[in-house]
Amino acid sequence: MRDYLDIYDVIVIGGSLSGSRVAELLAQKGRNVLLIEEHEKIGLPCKCTGLVSWRTLEILKNLPKNLVVNKLDKGKFYAPDGTFFVLKSKKSAYVLNRTGLDKFLFDQAVKAGTKVKTEHFETFKYSDGYVEVKTNKDIYRTKILIGADGANSVVAKNANLTMPKNIFVGLQTTAQGNFEQYVELWFGENIAPKFFAWVVPENEEVARVGVATHTNPKQYYERFLESRLNHNGLIPNVAGIIRFGIMKDTIADRIILVGDAACQVKPFSGGGITYGLIASQICADAVEKAFEENKFDYKFFKQNYDLKWKKILAPAIKKGMMSRKMLYLLSDSQMNVLFKMIKLFGYKILNRFDFDLLPDNVLN
Ligand SMILES: Cc1cc2nc3c(=O)[nH]c(=O)nc-3n(C[C@H](O)[C@H](O)[C@H](O)COP(=O)(O)OP(=O)(O)OC[C@H]3O[C@@H](n4cnc5c(N)ncnc54)[C@H](O)[C@@H]3O)c2cc1C
Repeated sequence: MRDYLDIYDVIVIGGSLSGSRVAELLAQKGRNVLLIEEHEKIGLPCKCTGLVSWRTLEILKNLPKNLVVNKLDKGKFYAPDGTFFVLKSKKSAYVLNRTGLDKFLFDQAVKAGTKVKTEHFETFKYSDGYVEVKTNKDIYRTKILIGADGANSVVAKNANLTMPKNIFVGLQTTAQGNFEQYVELWFGENIAPKFFAWVVPENEEVARVGVATHTNPKQYYERFLESRLNHNGLIPNVAGIIRFGIMKDTIADRIILVGDAACQVKPFSGGGITYGLIASQICADAVEKAFEENKFDYKFFKQNYDLKWKKILAPAIKKGMMSRKMLYLLSDSQMNVLFKMIKLFGYKILNRFDFDLLPDNVLN
């Protein structure tokens, strides 16, 4: 070990979507940024279906076209008895190559000047106006530490920032078959208790098929593959945790959480890409302002980050929590009735629905 410590303006833990995006935005501003990611291969292991709204493409205007695998604008919602209604979203959804997206954002961060270490973040402590960051290999100093380390954030734990206990585990595979160009969502106690199973086509012959539940995900995954595809031997190639809810604080002195680490996730679908990208921009703006004003304390980040992102995303997260609560209060037979009613009467109202539950002007 050296007898001096490398000093950075910002250290970001987690080189996935949110971490790379924040690192890129800050490095572009000339900040000395270190990104610490524990996996050597960026984007792997994959823990995402990669279904996003039009807003993701609006935010990432330079996203290479070959990362967009499919474009879909209709969903089929299946009740436990197989009744379904079709919903058309206001604007199209896109299926992305998620590993490719992570690599793209990581390369952008590096191009902007971010330095990178493949190390595992262990802990931090405050020291002489800095945060001292300890990994499995070294110790570094930084003025600001950003935790973009996902749904089981070690940064959040170390900073005593309590994360919600709503946790679901998702498993997904890539399957061959004949697939209509709809996103399918399947509900029911025997399919995916308190969540859903999904089919997201990449094209007419290939789809991403998965299940998220809070108990026995493997059992439900195998059962769904058997019932939907008549095939249960496919090994999952995507696995991950979905955690949602609103955290009281996503900041501490010199610490900021972003993305899944801050539970910036849609509670109904588990989607976190769009919210993570929106919050990454707010995070980068807050960090820039912190350097301009030389303020790094809890109060500053509360005003300039925590309350700001919550003003934009918390109403949508609350709506998502409420819809979950209402839907999953229902028994399977009540859900069957509800879906039949929606099929008969309600789809016109629901057709105005926004995939992210956000107002149109949120990116302005
Ligand atoms: C099965 C499943 C399907 C999903 N499908 C969708 C979807 O279709 N659309 C959508 O919008 N969202 C989806 N999501 C959610 C989406 O994947 C997340 O919201 C998104 O990946 C969050 O990005 P992030 O950068 O905040 O965190 P993560 O992607 O979790 O990245 C965290 C990074 O931190 C690294 N890391 C963690 N701990 C450490 C440490 N101690 N030291 C160093 N590095 C560390 C990890 O290796 C990882 O690279 C899905 C999630 C699951 C589980």
